[in-house]
Amino acid sequence: MYLIWGAFTALLTIFLEFIFLQGSFSLHNFNPGLFIPAGGWIDGLLCASGIYLYMKIKRKRVKIRHRLCSVIIAIVTFSLIYFMMYFSAYVSDGNINHSFKGEHISNYMYNKTEVYSFRNYLKSILENTTTITTVNGLVTSKDNLGFGFNKFMLMLELLGFCVGGLTCGVIAMEGRDYCRRCKTDFMRKRLYSFKDGFLPEEIEGVKNSFESKESFKQFIKRDQAIEKDIPYYEATLKYCLSCKTAYIEYRYIYSKKSKDNKVIFREDKDKYEVIEAPYIII
Ligand SMILES: [Zn+2]
Repeated sequence: MYLIWGAFTALLTIFLEFIFLQGSFSLHNFNPGLFIPAGGWIDGLLCASGIYLYMKIKRKRVKIRHRLCSVIIAIVTFSLIYFMMYFSAYVSDGNINHSFKGEHISNYMYNKTEVYSFRNYLKSILENTTTITTVNGLVTSKDNLGFGFNKFMLMLELLGFCVGGLTCGVIAMEGRDYCRRCKTDFMRKRLYSFKDGFLPEEIEGVKNSFESKESFKQFIKRDQAIEKDIPYYEATLKYCLSCKTAYIEYRYIYSKKSKDNKVIFREDKDKYEVIEAPYIII
């Protein structure tokens, strides 16, 4: 199923490039600083996003095979973008357009000896691509740096696609918390907060409330007003829908002043505590 989602976002990416092409712009070979394949990276990110969106919605853990698929989808999308360019290349009044005006390029000859096949179309791109250099948005040079250089840039673009596909996985999976038994994301529900210094009493109190469903529900549903500018603990119930296990985690939050004097809240991971709890969805 994740492959269908991936195929859908890949098609969307190709369609987006087709729309850009109507305005004589292409994102895929946009390389700021000449050797940074940012356009390819963005396209790679977009085309693989379907896979990770599906994994996120289904709360599933990303494995090596998903990452591998995102690279394959990036390579296929890269190839299909060039095929889309060939498919939509028409000639009218001696100029190539991508809005289906005139006759398809395959009706014309490449180098006066061969027809314009997809392969020859790619060759002509590599032979004729001009590299536009800009400084502060102003075009300073517009040169064809040769077949070899253009081929190198094409490979760099492909690398951008692959890295984009992998980066998408890293962004999508950032900060996710899995159940170790069944590799599924925990459901989370914030319970209450309490002042620093009361953690042992809180843990004891909640453990005592495990005796019955009602007392547990009552205990975790209460709220305690706290002053947000002092260190405090935040209690969260997390539970796994697959294996029906639950935990209460306690995160220690403290505040500090930023450079521009704003109060920001941080978590001290060394003071993190977690205990097992009865499986009750509230
Ligand atoms: Zn589980």
